[in-house]
Amino acid sequence: MQVILAKNCGFCRGVKYAVETALSVPAENTFVLGEIIHNPDVIRCISDRGIPTAEDVSEVPEGATLIIRSHGVGREVYATCERRGIRVIDCTCGFVRHTQKIVEEQSAAGKTVVIAGHSSHPEVVGLVGWAHGETLVVASEGEDFSALREKNVALVAQTTFSEERFSKIAENIKKECQKTVEIFRTICYTTIGRQKEARELAELCDAVVVIGGLNSSNTDKLCEIASAGGKFVYRLARADDFEYEKIKIFKRVGIITGASTPDWQAQEVLFKMEENNAEVQATTMQDVVEEMGKEERYKKGQLIKAKIVSATDEGIFVSASGKKEILLKKEEIDCEEYNKEAYAAKIGEEIEVMVVSLNPVELSEKKVRKMKEEEAVLAGIEAGEEFSVVCTGFNKGGLTAELGSYPVFVPAKEIRSGYVKELDKYVGKKLRLKLIEIRKERRKEIIASQRVILEAEKAAREAAKAEKEEAFFNAIGVGDVVEGKVERVTSFGAFVSVNGFDCLAHISDLSWTGVKAVTDVLEIGKRYEFKILKIDREAKKVSIGYKQLQPQPWDLAAEKYAVGDVVHGKVVRIVPFGAFVELEKGIDGLVHVSQISHEWLENPTSVLTIGQEIDAKILAFNPEERKINLSIKALEPKPETVEVKTEGDKPVRAKKASGRRDSKPSEEDEYREWNEGGLGGASIAEMLKLDENSDK
Ligand code: SF4
Repeated sequence: MQVILAKNCGFCRGVKYAVETALSVPAENTFVLGEIIHNPDVIRCISDRGIPTAEDVSEVPEGATLIIRSHGVGREVYATCERRGIRVIDCTCGFVRHTQKIVEEQSAAGKTVVIAGHSSHPEVVGLVGWAHGETLVVASEGEDFSALREKNVALVAQTTFSEERFSKIAENIKKECQKTVEIFRTICYTTIGRQKEARELAELCDAVVVIGGLNSSNTDKLCEIASAGGKFVYRLARADDFEYEKIKIFKRVGIITGASTPDWQAQEVLFKMEENNAEVQATTMQDVVEEMGKEERYKKGQLIKAKIVSATDEGIFVSASGKKEILLKKEEIDCEEYNKEAYAAKIGEEIEVMVVSLNPVELSEKKVRKMKEEEAVLAGIEAGEEFSVVCTGFNKGGLTAELGSYPVFVPAKEIRSGYVKELDKYVGKKLRLKLIEIRKERRKEIIASQRVILEAEKAAREAAKAEKEEAFFNAIGVGDVVEGKVERVTSFGAFVSVNGFDCLAHISDLSWTGVKAVTDVLEIGKRYEFKILKIDREAKKVSIGYKQLQPQPWDLAAEKYAVGDVVHGKVVRIVPFGAFVELEKGIDGLVHVSQISHEWLENPTSVLTIGQEIDAKILAFNPEERKINLSIKALEPKPETVEVKTEGDKPVRAKKASGRRDSKPSEEDEYREWNEGGLGGASIAEMLKLDENSDK
């Protein structure tokens, strides 16, 4: 087992100064504000010297000495100390002090200070304490930055924050913020170096041991970075916790510590490894790299040109730049079916292969083709081509997917117009996308938008619709006859598609005789001819009528009815002067009260009721005025006159014998009544007059 001790093991500069100070100042009446570092052994050491830890400045007695640790504190702590006569030994790290100044100055300039860090971390609490105005602490790039849209922003980082995450936060804030965003990369170089080394250890080793307090923020970051490539990370708060069993299967192990862990903790872990395994060989990263370089200096993902050296049943051996021969397994050769003989004939030819793994080096020719295909797709996408992917997941900020080996991210606001709340519903669904940008950090990430496609399509649809409508309105005029398909019906009419434009045929315009339901006349899905009744271009409304193209009942009445005909009908309305009788839908005739019976009637209701079916004779027929005058009594026998009396010089017709005719009048009667008593198309007034005269 090889063990690589990181160069950056042990205390960082700021922690070293604070610890050495606490270990050297006179202990009497001296306090440390908060744990001096996140390391229980060091805390115990200082406490054993007689320097207790005060959680708050209020716990420190007046006149005492107070050590301020490397994390720093807010402005108010200094003010309190001054007020209470407490002597301050300020061990705030120079990097932290620099960040505090930025916070103070930027907030004094009216900016909202965003701190990338963890809100409960003492350094961040201290930074907030230097602001004069609004601050916002954010821990990840997925947070909601919409509150910053209208703000001038200054972005700083907790000195131990992850570089990669800080960059993402900065990008997302820049995207959201419509005003100025000033970015201060305040992550200290010690942190940057340590994170870089953690990354390199993870690349070189099979497992990484990370030692640091469990509440140490910078140790958290080291673990996060070391495990990013899928390597095993064994985190320890202290060397005492180390168990060799956990790492015994690995061939190369790296050891790194957080900034508040003394380097002897790393040495102790190494010692424990050596105790358990006599073959443990301590080395440095440089030595390992040099050693590997003797064999190969490849990087994962690197493309190399290699010559075919030999062909075997397992694949072909290739050699690049005279280095040792490497087997290209037959499954990774870019061919339909591997044929040893065919490749034996190609010995000496050069092929391009990709390094897919190290220790041992493995190659693939197929992946070269795949990569080139993906690059071609990527070039098309960069040129503005639409592409589609299936959404595979989501996070707080949007949807995730993959295009070949490239991760794809669709920010929530780029999914469609408007706010998208339920991102989970998109998982498994196809997304049609256009590129916004390609983020080129450690791995290319495609940032894309579906919204731009949907909005462009909507705009195109609306433009086409407007053009079609314009053409439609230009082509039609009131009175035109058009053909349309009934698309849907409602209680008040039918919507009819005429050349793709929805027109309304109101229910009152469907039939001359009135209908109860639209479907009594029109059937959904069928085509009919309609007449254009009204055009409202501004409101984009067209009214059409169906009945206007149908004959009216009165148009045909002249062919059906004539004076003297006996007709059958139903009483549909009774008025004081008579009754209206429906002969057919749309054609009513009037039986005047005087034409109901030979007897005097006070009111038609004494003889007729609504709904009653009667026979009547047509006395008058005027189709132009749509009038038919009917008589019931004309079908009844005329009662005989009993006697005639004279009153003065006026003859008075005595009461006729009561009783109705119970049979139709004879043709002779009919002829006489028509000529003598008939009305022949007279008006109601004339009928009344005639009737009065006849009574007289
Ligand atoms: S990690 Fe960096 S900022 Fe923090 S104390 Fe150490 S040197 Fe200073």
